[in-house]
Amino acid sequence: MPFTKFGLSEPILEGVKAMGYVDPTPIQLRAMPLIMEGKDVIGSAQTGTGKTAAFALPILSKLAQSSVATRVLILEPTRELAAQVETAIRDFARFTNLRVTVVFGGVGYGKQMDDLKRGIDIIVATPGRLLDHIERGTCKLDKVEYLILDEADRMLDMGFLPDVKRIVERCPAKRQTLLFSATVPPQIESLISWAMKNPETIEIGARRSPAENVKHVIYPVAEDQKSDLLRALLDQVNYESVIIFCRTKNRADRIAHLLKKNNHSVALLHSNRTQREREQALQGFREGKFEVLVATDIAARGLDIADVSHVINYDVPQHPEDYIHRIGRTGRAEATGDAFTLMVAEDSPHVAAIERFISQKISRIKLETFNYHYTALFEEGKPGQPQGHDRKVKGVRLSGGYYFGPAKRRKR
Ligand code: AMP
Repeated sequence: MPFTKFGLSEPILEGVKAMGYVDPTPIQLRAMPLIMEGKDVIGSAQTGTGKTAAFALPILSKLAQSSVATRVLILEPTRELAAQVETAIRDFARFTNLRVTVVFGGVGYGKQMDDLKRGIDIIVATPGRLLDHIERGTCKLDKVEYLILDEADRMLDMGFLPDVKRIVERCPAKRQTLLFSATVPPQIESLISWAMKNPETIEIGARRSPAENVKHVIYPVAEDQKSDLLRALLDQVNYESVIIFCRTKNRADRIAHLLKKNNHSVALLHSNRTQREREQALQGFREGKFEVLVATDIAARGLDIADVSHVINYDVPQHPEDYIHRIGRTGRAEATGDAFTLMVAEDSPHVAAIERFISQKISRIKLETFNYHYTALFEEGKPGQPQGHDRKVKGVRLSGGYYFGPAKRRKR
């Protein structure tokens, strides 16, 4: 059973089996090892991805036995979600003696107080009612070891963030904190930096296919020509606004510097920049003051920027779902967008993973006017080699399976 590889406890594995789960979902595959290791984790994932089990199974395994003190607190934005998560936890923990209860408003205090008095290992709660209990002295959080802030963006939307902060302050500083949020707006980022320690981020896109109106292609290139090709692409393409994604902050800094030197108006967005710098970068980009936004995934997550004409992946995303997320920034609403990915030889496994994930081969194309150095990637698609495309993009077909591009020009 694939769930056995995570080091979950026997009774929890029994619980998983009883639920009928066979294979872990992507978020479970990625989150569970980190949570088992004791890391703080930010999961950018929506309901329906299996995120409840992703956080619950490792934590329930680590709790092992009931100790009657509250060691796990799970905050949810709504009663419905709180109730749903409590049910899931009961199911997963059915072969343990762990005690779980749910605490939310709109119902009497009686049962909740009785449960809390008796001693509860795991509390699933909405923030308002939990604070009531804390203030009445019927609930203590001083033994909490695991804090889960679920659907954080919805808690923000519903105005719960101040309550959430007051609750977090009642928890011991030494704890493992997990936060799940479909989007990460700036207020959640500040909650993250305040409430979490060196968190690892996992992003799971709900979609598994790129939007139909996005044309996306790969430009194979030798490593030493990446930045030259980027500049050539920017020169050739009549873009209105382009986001360039880089793998690391350093690379983003370097690319932004290079493009500025080449007279592009560039905004830079990554997590080493101050809040003010980031806001200015975003606002300037939205208003059209900057044509180019160079960003890392972390900084750009959850941003809704309309009318991006192009996305360029200067680096191939490490996780397939990030590809969908990145190229989803173009082709929004009525606009059709282009997404280019620069690929060097060592990116092959990541590109293959992306293509498997989206069940689609991505067309390889060359920029006609660019003076390419040789890379083994150009052998791909030749007779006897795997084909590198199946989608038609505008351009001229070449031997070896290549198209020349970009053929698409935009009116400014
Ligand atoms: P969630 O995103 O946590 O709300 O889960 C969505 C649904 O997926 C729930 O009905 C879960 O019981 C179900 N689920 C979670 N993980 C798995 C899995 N590994 N295999 C099958 N179903 C799952």
